[in-house]
Amino acid sequence: MSEQTMKAIRLNAPNDFEYCDVPIPEINSHEVLARVETVAICGTDPHIFAGEFPGFWPKSFPLIPGHEWAGTIVKVGDVARSLGWREGERVCGISHVGCGYCSMCMQGRYTLCLNYGHEEKGHRQYGHYSQGAYAQYIAASVKSIARIPDGMSFDVAACMDPFSIALHAVMRSDLEPGDSVLVNGTGAQGLMSIMIVRAMGAGKVLASGSGFRLQVAERLGATPIDYKAGDVVERVKALTEGMGVKRVIECSGTPEGVRQACEAVAKGGTISMVSLPSKDVDIPIRRLVLDEIDLKGNRANPNTLEPAIAMVQENNIDLARLITHSFPLSKFAEAFDIFVHRKDNSLKVVVKPND
Ligand SMILES: [Zn+2]
Ligand SMILES: [Zn+2]
Repeated sequence: MSEQTMKAIRLNAPNDFEYCDVPIPEINSHEVLARVETVAICGTDPHIFAGEFPGFWPKSFPLIPGHEWAGTIVKVGDVARSLGWREGERVCGISHVGCGYCSMCMQGRYTLCLNYGHEEKGHRQYGHYSQGAYAQYIAASVKSIARIPDGMSFDVAACMDPFSIALHAVMRSDLEPGDSVLVNGTGAQGLMSIMIVRAMGAGKVLASGSGFRLQVAERLGATPIDYKAGDVVERVKALTEGMGVKRVIECSGTPEGVRQACEAVAKGGTISMVSLPSKDVDIPIRRLVLDEIDLKGNRANPNTLEPAIAMVQENNIDLARLITHSFPLSKFAEAFDIFVHRKDNSLKVVVKPND
């Protein structure tokens, strides 16, 4: 590697990526340059790689994707330095950076920034339309990073972005101690949601899924419901004395899963969406109205990164068990294939740009 370039995965067009040399990014005053030690493949990445969000994620090609990262600060901008950031600190990052000035940002709801997509106004979304972390280095705003404890591995820290997304959705579900919960879908977000609701004192936790992932859900303490083996709603009712669950964390993203969420929730309960269905789905709106069901949409992880890190660290949550595969960045194509096709019981697949 010369001084000015680094290795990265560059998406040149839909379904066309390459491992190549690109310039090491410059930083501005409120950013740090971090050496990326681990970046985890996200469930959104295959959709970005396939070009399913034309003109949005990314706005234009090429893009360096990747946004679930952890690493070491190697360079610090002036404002970042005045705020206390230093070379050598271990950090992890999230994708969203709000402009900091609009009314949504001022309310702390920066994932809903009114200047979304305007880099010239200070907004970023790394790995979506702004340059991301499938690279040896990332230029990251201090608004998007948090320090990690000495005892936390970079691999686990790279999972704090998705974990903090699940935490936001669970908090928005208004979960109270003892509440019954259905986690609908047992991918990484569903499994992390199970870890979170248990740490937050949920009562009975049910999980709907299938195969290996449902087995993991059971090992994490959820009562498994195999959606391929029977009617999920009936099963939920049978396990809750006919009442349904107080809180549903919807992680499936399928039309059927959303419908089940609307029917499995108890009167006065809440459905909190982690999933983003690929298109609009029919929901039983009359049931939601008459039974006062709250349906909450959620966008990423506003202000939940630091609480998520503390929750994992102080509750001995074993996120490492969700990390099934690790590859150097040079083998990204293989890592991506295993992740996308769920080969070899893959869950979280991590990539190491500097190995
Ligand atoms: Zn992600
Ligand atoms: Zn804003």
